[in-house]
Amino acid sequence: MEIKEYVQIRKDLIRQTLQNASRVPSLAILQVGDNAASNSYIRGKLKDCAEVGIKATLFHYPDTISEKELISEIKRCNQDPAIDAFLVQLPVPKAISERAIHLAIDPKKDIDGFSPLSAFASCTPKGIVDYLTDEGFTFKGANAVILGRSNIVGKPMAKMLTGKDCNVTLLHSKTSDEDMRFYLKHADLIVVAIGRLGHIDLSYELKPTAWVVDVGINRDAAGHLRGDCLPGLKVARQTPVPGGVGLLTRLALITNIMEVLKR
Ligand code: NAP
Repeated sequence: MEIKEYVQIRKDLIRQTLQNASRVPSLAILQVGDNAASNSYIRGKLKDCAEVGIKATLFHYPDTISEKELISEIKRCNQDPAIDAFLVQLPVPKAISERAIHLAIDPKKDIDGFSPLSAFASCTPKGIVDYLTDEGFTFKGANAVILGRSNIVGKPMAKMLTGKDCNVTLLHSKTSDEDMRFYLKHADLIVVAIGRLGHIDLSYELKPTAWVVDVGINRDAAGHLRGDCLPGLKVARQTPVPGGVGLLTRLALITNIMEVLKR
C-alpha cells in the first residue's frame, strides 16, 4: 500500500479510538529558536495531533535560553500531570548539550524515545518497523543492511531489527565501497539513513526481491526534497522521498502517545 494511504488509514483508526476514549492524551513540544526545518516539522506534528484529537501544546523559547533554564523547563514538564509526554525539538543551539537534555527528560514522558530508558520506542525506526510489519515483510532470518549508525536512526533501527530476528549488518562511512556492495547484494531489507543525496543508485547490484527504506532527507539543486536513494531501483519495494519515512515517523509519534492510554 502507498505510504500516504497507509498513514491516513492508521490516523483514522487513532481518531476513532480517541472519540471513544475516557480521556485525551496530551503532548508538549519544546522549541528553542526559529530553525526553519524545525518550524516545518513542528507544524506537521501539531497538525497530526489536531487531526486525530490529541491535545498538543507548543512552548517556544528564545535561542538565548541557557541550558540550565531549558532543563528547568524540562523538569517542569516532567512534573506537570497535565502533560503525558513531551519532546524537545532538535537541533538546539550549540551552547546546549543534547545529551544533557535527553538525560533530564523523565523516561516515562520521553516520547521521542532517545533515552535508552525511555518508555517509548524511537519514532523513525518504530514507524518503519510498524509499516513493514503491516505490509507483511518477513523479518525472521532476513538479511537486513542498515546504512548509517546515528543514535536516532541507525543504531535503534539495528536494535529493533535484531529483536525481529533479522540478520543485521550496520554499515557506515568507514565501510569500504567493496564491502558495501557485497552486503547490499545479499540484503533482503536495506535501510538507508546517511544524508547523502542519491547515494544508492543503479550501479549497486541488489536483490530484485529486496525492500529498500529510504530515510534520507536531502535537497537537490532546485531545492526539492530527495532521498539517499535514486528513485527506480530494481527492487521489490522502495519507499519514496518525500511521502515516505517522514510520514511514518510522524505516525509513530502519535501511535506512541496512544500508549499512555494503556498505562
Ligand atoms: P547523521 O547523524 O548525520 O549520521 C549519518 C550516518 O551516515 C553516520 O553514521 C555516517 O557514518 C553515515 N554515512 C555518511 N556517509 C556515508 C556513506 N557514504 N556511506 C555509508 N555511511 C555513511 O544522520 P541521521 O541523523 O541518522 O540522518 C540521516 C538522514 O536521515 C538525514 O538525511 C536525515 O535528514 C534523515 N532523517 C530522516 C528522518 C525521517 O523521519 N524521514 C528522521 C531522521 C533523520 P559515520 O558514523 O562513520 O560518520
